[in-house]
Amino acid sequence: MLNTAESLRVEKEAKDVWKECLSLIKENVPNITYNTWFLPIKPSDFLGNTLKVFVPNNFFIEWIEQHYNTLIKNTVAQVLGHEGKLLYVILEEKEHEAEPEKNTLPDRKPVITEAAEPQKEFESCLITKYTFDNFIKGEGNQLARAAAYAVGDSPGSTSFNPLFIYGGVGLGKTHLIHAIGNKILERAPEKRVIYISSDAFTVEFVEAIQSNTVNDFSSFYKSMDALIIDDIQFLVGKEKTQDLFFHIFNTLHQSGKQIILSSDRPPKDLKGLSDRLVSRFLWGLQTDIQPPDLETRTAILKNKSESYGINLSREIVEYIAHNITSNIRELEGCLVKLLANASLTSRDIDFELVKKTVREVSTNKQVNISIELITKVVCEYFELEENKLREKNRRKEVVLARQIAMYLAKQLTKSSLKTIGLHFGGRDHSTVIHAQTSVEEAAKTDFKMKEMLDSIKSKIELSVA
Ligand code: ADP
Ligand code: MG
Repeated sequence: MLNTAESLRVEKEAKDVWKECLSLIKENVPNITYNTWFLPIKPSDFLGNTLKVFVPNNFFIEWIEQHYNTLIKNTVAQVLGHEGKLLYVILEEKEHEAEPEKNTLPDRKPVITEAAEPQKEFESCLITKYTFDNFIKGEGNQLARAAAYAVGDSPGSTSFNPLFIYGGVGLGKTHLIHAIGNKILERAPEKRVIYISSDAFTVEFVEAIQSNTVNDFSSFYKSMDALIIDDIQFLVGKEKTQDLFFHIFNTLHQSGKQIILSSDRPPKDLKGLSDRLVSRFLWGLQTDIQPPDLETRTAILKNKSESYGINLSREIVEYIAHNITSNIRELEGCLVKLLANASLTSRDIDFELVKKTVREVSTNKQVNISIELITKVVCEYFELEENKLREKNRRKEVVLARQIAMYLAKQLTKSSLKTIGLHFGGRDHSTVIHAQTSVEEAAKTDFKMKEMLDSIKSKIELSVA
């Protein structure tokens, strides 16, 4: 038991420590985010190297962990050192006003965020909350889920090697492949499992080339028991990365190690990926995920809202499930927005709020795609600086990138030809029309062009989803 003087000292320290964390966080997030998600967190106590903080509810923890985990980890490491830990404790509604009784608080397991551990040899990069338990079964994902489960159970020893899961945006591919990794580690924590997106894989590879460490890079991936690569479609056109991946694939496959891949389309449609890779993908099992039907959407909404600790009436759940149909990420987005709207305005979740939120979510997608975003993604794709698209540069590659950006701006935003022209260095509206028709024509006859457009479009969609 602490005496009063000691407990005062402890409280003051916790306050100071959290204040220091807050000031670092504030520098790294927009004001609205800071006010909504970080200001409501209150310091509790600080003992040893663990700072305990109170958060209003479960939803807060999930949101923060999902969106700001790295920021928090780094902040804690900076303020408390690498041994530092942050412990969230839920402050129940009733205890908001009253000074909470510290020893009787949570019935929820406290969540500990540890500072990044430098001594760990490598990070599996698995998101632990993506599990089979919270993956809702439905007609559209039944087969993919069953295959994934089998692989998680006995990696490398089923005929599903590689396991290739494909399907549209927001349907649960990433969730499912993380669930496999988590299951493998749950059964055998010593296994070497790694998750990486094909984009990150490419970036690491380029860095390895620059630092002359390609051999290390390649042996690292060859040493895995399970290699999980997400969004493999982004390897299209990247021949050197494909070559290296081909060798890693062979080594792993020959030694009975598991390979798990996801893609937005089936292997046969991955034009621009080398034939030998595509043929390897056909060795195992390819299985797709289809958009969720009404029952699945309803079940997902019920499950997610319950996990956030809120109770939505059947009427509300059905309204959302009927109106948001395309994918699960959007369903989730709607729920999160609903909670955010309710918590910002301290309003109950009533039907009016639900309708308003559904309307916002449905129109948002279009609104969120801006010419700036299109320019950014196109330039990343072509590895060009953005101002090249505004200059009078006539290099073939720049002209192509500019035309594609103009074409996509016309397709994906509501901007007029004139506005689009202005964004690209004040060009005339007839230049935009010309770009549009050239790209359309090329996409009809040239599959590489079509691939390129699909790939860029899916990146744009991913970044606003
Ligand atoms: P994809 O990788 O196919 O674009 P994600 O795996 O990122 O989709 O899924 C988008 C969101 O929807 C994630 O938050 C995920 O947890 C959720 N989700 C997808 N499918 C399901 C499901 N069957 N049950 C529960 N949540 C799901
Ligand atoms: Mg994904």
